Amino acid sequence: MSQHTAYPMFDLAKAGVPDDLCPIAVTINPMLPGDWRSMRPVVDRNKCVKCAVCWLYCPAQCIVERPAWFDINLTICKGCGICANECPQHAITMIEEVEA
Ligand code: SF4
Ligand code: SF4
Repeated sequence: MSQHTAYPMFDLAKAGVPDDLCPIAVTINPMLPGDWRSMRPVVDRNKCVKCAVCWLYCPAQCIVERPAWFDINLTICKGCGICANECPQHAITMIEEVEA
């Protein structure tokens, strides 16, 4: 029969969360998906019929409604390409991200 060692739980009231345990992050990383994305979606306004399928499928909820088409908030878009894959009008194209 194996011997098990019980480790004490963190006492948040006394010490808080230890800052020497990987992979617990102790500081908030301000990086947004737009900072690391490798591909970006581009909407062809002439093809978009505002069906909102892209809005429905986008996992990052970054599809934005414009008066005549649906656009993308590129600050939070992670470039997954789901919108381009699901658009029934093939109005979204994924292009390679380039450094500004
Ligand atoms: S899925 Fe395509 S056609 Fe529909 S709103 Fe989005 S971009 Fe426009
Ligand atoms: S590429 Fe992904 S995250 Fe960006 S708008 Fe399309 S579905 Fe949303």
